[in-house]
Amino acid sequence: MELRCVDCGRAHPPALLYDCPACGGILELRGDDGLPPVDLGQGETPLLRAPRLEASLPGFAGQIWLKDETRNPSGSFKDRLVGAALARAVALGARGVVCASSGNAGAATAAYAARAGVPAVIVVPAHTPPGKVTQIAAHGALLLLVEGHYSRAYDLARGLERHGFANLTTTFLNPWGVAALDAVGHEIGARIGVPDLVLIPTGSGPLVQGVARGLPGARLVAVQAEGCAPIVRAFEAGAEAVSAWGEPRTIASGISDPLIGYERDGTHTLRLVRASGGLAVAVSDAALRRAMQDLARLEGVYAEPTGASPLAALARLHGEGRLPAAARCVLLVTGHGFKDGKAYEEMPARTHRVADPGDLPAVARLCEAALAEA
Ligand SMILES: *Cc1c(COP(=O)(O)O)cnc(C)c1O
Ligand SMILES: [Zn+2]
Repeated sequence: MELRCVDCGRAHPPALLYDCPACGGILELRGDDGLPPVDLGQGETPLLRAPRLEASLPGFAGQIWLKDETRNPSGSFKDRLVGAALARAVALGARGVVCASSGNAGAATAAYAARAGVPAVIVVPAHTPPGKVTQIAAHGALLLLVEGHYSRAYDLARGLERHGFANLTTTFLNPWGVAALDAVGHEIGARIGVPDLVLIPTGSGPLVQGVARGLPGARLVAVQAEGCAPIVRAFEAGAEAVSAWGEPRTIASGISDPLIGYERDGTHTLRLVRASGGLAVAVSDAALRRAMQDLARLEGVYAEPTGASPLAALARLHGEGRLPAAARCVLLVTGHGFKDGKAYEEMPARTHRVADPGDLPAVARLCEAALAEA
């Protein structure tokens, strides 16, 4: 077991290292970290066929599968990464952990640190969705709200590495955590073999790497929001390297990552997408809202905006004639709707106030009309 730099190829012994001491490159875990993760029951999430979504795309004759990562204990796939990274941090002598987060990684770190009895500091942008902030605070973590976007929280967490805190930030920083995401790919392959396309909400890209390594042969589609799409911009320009995004503007908080100061992560992800023969696609907030509604109403899956982004991308590719009609597609539904219900509150709903529950005939008329609509 060793840490190897993806840029210069040098190997380093197992330690709490976050980049290559020789060149600053991303470190990758080689060999098996046999250490059991801190366990709250993460992983082995359902893979659900989505026939009503399939039927909703005119002319589509392929398959849609939902990898439902909302079922992880804290409501996102970040649990897989944090459970592994925390166990290794403790084994390597860390007294506390820090995590910079747009919300979900912080919620995972707070929960798993509570489980392990380890002090946690979580750093999030002050505008993080209230559901996520509440979740982090509930687990008793020290919560730091920082003005500005995610990259400022990231810098602060890096500063705390020198003050006794292992860094569990879920970019490509922590090689022990990132390696645990390969299981997402393995689980898909074990259920249905290698699909044609896997559509992945993408911030800095560890999840893309997990699918690339765990499910070789699938074409990967990195999905970003139009209001924060540094990897898509580089992909479309045919660029070699990803550059940072200015000011993010999107309801998809889970992928609202401008990559300022760690653009190398985006470049690494861009290479993985290209090597798979895949694509990078951006979706609008309006398309995210439509996709959230379709997931919830056609399949019963309740996702935060980011979690619905693969469906928005699939609909876009289909609408533009870029989706092969018989493609077998897996959508990674990465985060739970409970975390960020605001976008749903603004959607049309079929809610009525019943002034007189004793007036059964009036209520029955309303309900029978619902039967007739079906
Ligand atoms: C963190 C996160 C992502 C992005 O994952 P990366 O591995 O950083 O690309 C996607 N969806 C949700 C819900 C997330 O919390
Ligand atoms: Zn190096």
